[in-house]
Amino acid sequence: MEKQRIKEGIERYLKVKHGIKLKDAKDYEIFNAVSLTVLEEIIDNWNTTTETYSKGRMAYYLSAEYLMGRALGNNLMNLGVYDEVKDVLSELNIDLNRIEEIEEDAGLGNGGLGRLAACFVESAATLDMPLVGYGIRYSNGLFKQNIENGFQTECEDTWLKYGEAWSIRKDNDIQIINYSDMTVKAVPYDVPIIGYGTKNINTLRLWQCEALREFDFNLFNNQQYIEAVSGRNKAEDISRVLYPNDTAEAGKILRLRQQYFFSSASMKDIIKKHKAKFGSDFSEFAKYNVAQLNDTHPTISILEFIRILIDEEHVEFSSALAIAKEFFGYTNHTILAEALEKWDIRLIDRLFPRILQIAYKVDEALVNELRQRSYDEGAIWNFKIIANDQMRMANLAIYVGRAVNGVAALHTEILKKTELNHWYHLYPNKFQNKTNGITPRRWLRLCNAELSELITDLLGSEDWVKNLELLKGLEKYKNDDKVLERLMSIKHEKKVQLAEYIKQEEGIIIDPNSFFDIQIKRLHEYKRQLLNALYILDLYYRIKENPDLDIPKTTFIFGAKAFPGYRRAKGIVKFINEIARFIDNDSEVSKKIKVVFVHNYKVSYAQKLFPGSDLSKQISTAGKEASGTGNMKFMLNATPTFGTYDGANIEIVQESGEHNNYIFGLRVEDIEKIKHSYDPKWYYRENPSIKRVVDTLINGTLDDGRTGYFEDLYNALLEERDQYYVLADFELFKKSQEQVFEDYKDKKKWAQKCFANLYSSGIFSSDRTIKQYADEIWYIKPAPIK
Ligand SMILES: *Cc1c(COP(=O)(O)O)cnc(C)c1O
Repeated sequence: MEKQRIKEGIERYLKVKHGIKLKDAKDYEIFNAVSLTVLEEIIDNWNTTTETYSKGRMAYYLSAEYLMGRALGNNLMNLGVYDEVKDVLSELNIDLNRIEEIEEDAGLGNGGLGRLAACFVESAATLDMPLVGYGIRYSNGLFKQNIENGFQTECEDTWLKYGEAWSIRKDNDIQIINYSDMTVKAVPYDVPIIGYGTKNINTLRLWQCEALREFDFNLFNNQQYIEAVSGRNKAEDISRVLYPNDTAEAGKILRLRQQYFFSSASMKDIIKKHKAKFGSDFSEFAKYNVAQLNDTHPTISILEFIRILIDEEHVEFSSALAIAKEFFGYTNHTILAEALEKWDIRLIDRLFPRILQIAYKVDEALVNELRQRSYDEGAIWNFKIIANDQMRMANLAIYVGRAVNGVAALHTEILKKTELNHWYHLYPNKFQNKTNGITPRRWLRLCNAELSELITDLLGSEDWVKNLELLKGLEKYKNDDKVLERLMSIKHEKKVQLAEYIKQEEGIIIDPNSFFDIQIKRLHEYKRQLLNALYILDLYYRIKENPDLDIPKTTFIFGAKAFPGYRRAKGIVKFINEIARFIDNDSEVSKKIKVVFVHNYKVSYAQKLFPGSDLSKQISTAGKEASGTGNMKFMLNATPTFGTYDGANIEIVQESGEHNNYIFGLRVEDIEKIKHSYDPKWYYRENPSIKRVVDTLINGTLDDGRTGYFEDLYNALLEERDQYYVLADFELFKKSQEQVFEDYKDKKKWAQKCFANLYSSGIFSSDRTIKQYADEIWYIKPAPIK
């Protein structure tokens, strides 16, 4: 793109959108103008891509979450115009970096599952794969986290406050969604997904819920102002927030409405496109279309799809079911019981009775098949879609799904051997593994330009950005002192940048010369932030006892949102912050260690944290973390893993070598053996270090402001039998961390571990994952535009 065109575009959009001249423009107005200039540039290719894809077989990715983060920097980089735009702005005395920082994250997700969806759509675009993403345009995302006096507080995320430059409202494709008690509009907003080094522009279609009528004129005229807009508010609530609190029935109904809302809109949209090509002939529908369910949230799509086919298109039930069985694939993301969705059939009956009728028919077909295969009634119970007055979404997805996949090797094995063993026996060929991945564009090229430059220098080209396996070519430099020194000086530079950012965001000063030990991920008991916290507290006491304790100066960094209704997770946030304060108040110990809890962990923060890390903490209870993708982001930024034998950690150390990482703790099979006899109180009695740190929860050392949080944590460990084996793994953790501190003394050896992680990370590109889905489940091929 020519600089002159960029400049003219910016000036034009400042004029038509904001009515101002450059010299008066605020940063957000410049952000909008730059974004629109680029958007204008890609529209033709975008339309051509959509048209090209529509001629062949297409995949649809259905996900309740897309954790996109910021668009501008990534889009400029992927289009290859970053430097031009930077130059144009700097000629105008504007710093592109500052403009990038003004953008609000599109935080339409909760954690790994939503970030995976974002990486997948980017990889599909980069690979020219005909894939469209469908989701919900939550007007207020998840929530914004603040830390007040050590407690997490939440408020609304107003990411749309400056308008949103990167999507286009498509009124022509509005769908009407019917519930028994209301009818709403689903309005699509299309987000361009710009691949790296390709002309193809893919589409993420996000549905926004709106009322059919803006307000009731007669009520308003009657001066009943609140009543006049209540219908509108009720509709807009449907796409307001991700995972509304569902502890009460009203919240459950809202979540169910949301799931049906985007499922129904997406199915109608896909069927509308099919009919534009084939009329009402559905015989070849599954030849041209395939849909992937990202977890069970969109599973009601299956029933809605069958409903439309039989009620509106006059297809026989058995044919409709047969088409659905070709059309849908299902990705399982967890084996935690709490996440296996079940819906009370009374709610389904109340909101969409026809969907329940269809569910009964699908269930009947399943039961008939099982009876034919001579399953007895007791065994059939486990498979049923409707049982105990509940609809079991995973059973529906597995029965109808053409493929069922786990997201890392261990996870898929656990599904086959235990959790879904009965299904595996019934349909062994449906089960597949697709180990997760991350996009190297955002998670290395964009967030770590310095390291990217080193890689490009050594490899002689930037091809690795599109073909991450090329990183293997770096291995030959593993004993090259100059290269290792450059790597570590880049790491230091990224730590300095992170320290500056933390100072600006948190008002906390940390020492970039200290060791940065980082645990960033959603707050959950299974992820065991509590284990890390108890370890740090033990370290505090050991330094107290021995001020000369031989460890490098260390900064422990945490970032995590606790789900608002998850009381125990909030207790852990407070506990970490109290430990931070406790250490800061000790003039001796604080010379050696420091704890920082960064607030509102999100994609743009993550882009600063991963590159500035010395150690990646991945310490989930073995068997609980399906894959993890944060672990891969650290690895790609040349950071060793400190973790359990869980999820993709296993594959990470397979690639880069156990000696370049730190694997500790009970394995799945160990837990299997001890689970019935496990007695955390034994550890508490026998291990004085454990007793010392666990007692701080109840002896007044640390203060939870009379919330009862800490006593609850104490009880979780000792009275509720420590479900996540925190105490069982405590000593093993400690030993492993000592080893880290010991190894870090040898700078060259440490640099080699970092470097080995970098050159071994190639297979964790989401490009590899997407190719596997395309080849083994979706059967789609690249369709580059001219
Ligand atoms: C990658 C990522 C996650 C997932 O992290 P895990 O450690 O795999 O749970 C969550 N949130 C954000 C913002 C991320 O970038």
